[in-house]
Amino acid sequence: MIDGYGRDINYLRISVTDLCNLKCTYCMPENGIDKKEHREILNLETIEKVAESAVKLGITKIRLTGGEPLVRRGILDLVRNISALKEHGLKELGLTTNGLLLKNYAEDLKKAGLTRVNISIDSMDPDKYRQITRCGKVDDVLEGIRAAKEAKLFPLKINIVLIGGFNDDEIEDFVNLTRDEDIEVRFIELMPLGEASEWDTEHFLANDEILKRVPTLISMPSKGHGSVARLYKLPNSKGKVGLISPLSSHFCHYCNRIRLTPDGKLKPCLHSNVEIDIKDYAENEFDKFLMDGIKAKPMRHCIQSNDYEPVIRNMHEIGG
Ligand code: SAM
Ligand code: SF4
Repeated sequence: MIDGYGRDINYLRISVTDLCNLKCTYCMPENGIDKKEHREILNLETIEKVAESAVKLGITKIRLTGGEPLVRRGILDLVRNISALKEHGLKELGLTTNGLLLKNYAEDLKKAGLTRVNISIDSMDPDKYRQITRCGKVDDVLEGIRAAKEAKLFPLKINIVLIGGFNDDEIEDFVNLTRDEDIEVRFIELMPLGEASEWDTEHFLANDEILKRVPTLISMPSKGHGSVARLYKLPNSKGKVGLISPLSSHFCHYCNRIRLTPDGKLKPCLHSNVEIDIKDYAENEFDKFLMDGIKAKPMRHCIQSNDYEPVIRNMHEIGG
């Protein structure tokens, strides 16, 4: 599906729940969130129908995210049913997770048809990890990473949100993980979203900091259309380093995605409050729902402009 600015929209991110087993400072409010009523959240059957319409319209890549997707009951069935769309043109089904439950799920996710996972870990230091997530144990994530490797959920990507004054002292440690392993370590710039916005502004650090701290990184050719990461590698390393810089070097001209929230809103742009509500469409109109979302995609975000309206939703309700 081509949007109003000639971009081929072939990637759907589905946030399957706004709930999470962590409360990362930049993503969730400190006091947690109220659990929504059952009827306010899309049921799995509806998510599958939207995914089916999307694939028939030309979506080739779907990512399940959250909140924490592995806390959604029925996640394995959802993966299995969406994975069956590979017969209709789906090429890749990925999942972004904080990794805490992966040790229990990795093998079954692979069997259910999941192609690959991205695992988020902002610090490898147990105390700092607990501080940023407000409750997590880093060893659980490390076990999850091992389980993902054993299950061959490749290519494996590790997501780190770069937080000035908090984890910038670990940049080299994270980059060094790519020396002997074929993984992609990706640094993501902190984005101002929802209640955590003020916190974000205070700790924002542009991704160029990575290149200053590790000058030996060599630039690699981009993976082409839709790739949001600028890629680098250490000399002779097996893995890669990706820099995702939505603020300091926006990639809106390559944007190939739309997002579905757990409560059934299609978000044409992560950094805008414009949403299309599934409730305004009948079940046989999901194609139109998706096409209206794509038509509403703006040319670019305007975070740095005077017209910018801060995004109300927190990231746990959107999925990254
Ligand atoms: N719970 C899963 C996880 O943490 O990977 C999936 C959902 S989480 C919202 C998806 C990604 O968004 C994570 O890598 C997380 O670090 C990132 N994220 C959340 N809030 C962010 C923010 N304000 N700025 C940049 N990245 C953010
Ligand atoms: Fe949960 Fe992921 Fe948000 Fe952290 S970033 S609170 S793990 S949804």
